[in-house]
Amino acid sequence: MVYRIFSSLLNRSLAQCLLCGGRADYCGICFACAEELPTLQNACETCALPLVEPARFCPACLRQPPHFSGVQAAWHYAYPVNQLIQRFKYCGDLTAGHSLAQMAAQIIDVDQRPDLLSPIPLHWRRYWQRGYNQAQLVAEELGRQWQLPVRPRLLCKVSATQTQSQLNRPHRLRNLLGSFVLREDVEGLHIGLVDDVLTTGATLEAAAQKLLQEGAARVSAFVLARTP
Ligand SMILES: [Zn+2]
Ligand SMILES: [Zn+2]
Repeated sequence: MVYRIFSSLLNRSLAQCLLCGGRADYCGICFACAEELPTLQNACETCALPLVEPARFCPACLRQPPHFSGVQAAWHYAYPVNQLIQRFKYCGDLTAGHSLAQMAAQIIDVDQRPDLLSPIPLHWRRYWQRGYNQAQLVAEELGRQWQLPVRPRLLCKVSATQTQSQLNRPHRLRNLLGSFVLREDVEGLHIGLVDDVLTTGATLEAAAQKLLQEGAARVSAFVLARTP
């Protein structure tokens, strides 16, 4: 259903570049604007954090490797990708999200294919307010392009984590870990988590920890953009 709305919106505005309004050449944007997108080149191999100096891993991942095996991000969370993601997430511009997901599917090189993709869930209250989970729409497009199954209800968020910012980091992680519930069996599977933006990685880390606790063999992640 959501996907159908997504596709019809896309068809309607396919001809116009989402960024400059000129003629769209590629996934809803023109070649000139596509050139301007902030590609992520030198980044941590584990958490995709953009690095200034050439190195394989960021200091945080070297100190304490996270539970997920690796994150692949298509872009830096910088102009104009950040603007498109905000339009997608907060202004109901599903065309922007679809276009980004289509491009990301081509940019990201999936060397080790997961068994399935699972979007990071939204708490039902936020889902209700927004009307869609942006991570699910991204996962559906990646799944379609990569021909991987998508399980939108595998992970469920049970408690709103609005008070997160008032907690310190260990408390925040524990709070997050308890907020995920698994609805399907993941025994022995390689799960590919999908989100729109990766910021601190705390949510991803908690989801990965939960999946591994429940028997998943491996957890990797795919995101549109990574914040510096
Ligand atoms: Zn353009
Ligand atoms: Zn890292």
